[in-house]
Amino acid sequence: MSQPLFRIGIGYDIHTLKAGRRCVLGGVEIPSDVGPDGHSDADVLCHAVADAILGAAGLRDIGFYFPNTDPACKDMNSLDIVRRAVAEVEKTGYCIQNVDAAMIAEKPKVGPHIDAIKASLAKVLGIPENCVGVKATTNEKLDDLGAGLGIAVHAVCLIARK
Ligand code: MG
Repeated sequence: MSQPLFRIGIGYDIHTLKAGRRCVLGGVEIPSDVGPDGHSDADVLCHAVADAILGAAGLRDIGFYFPNTDPACKDMNSLDIVRRAVAEVEKTGYCIQNVDAAMIAEKPKVGPHIDAIKASLAKVLGIPENCVGVKATTNEKLDDLGAGLGIAVHAVCLIARK
């Protein structure tokens, strides 16, 4: 049976925000008094994007490839996780067409950094910057995200048969 021409994937991740942690989103360090907490650099945007990519190809999630119990993953640059996801998808005979992501957090303010984040992701994804969407919104002060306790990201990815 021939493989579908196009496939889509969805990714989601959430991290708590901790005072004094670096805030790296899409490989770009954002000036902030809080940052996502986690085993790696906790780049929640990269994690959601990587899962969307892997999901599009029906592969396992990033926890399978990068267990948070693995000392080698400690403080790792999450752009490397995205790179690996891209490589795994390429092996299946598909290539990435576009990625779109929505970040939800009360802080930090990422608006001024969106272009840099898009450029950073596009480079690793191997697609033009205008094929990468990155948006940021607040949770309108609702629930724990609205209280500033964390940052969540939803992402989608479209892949096409080579
Ligand atoms: Mg994560």
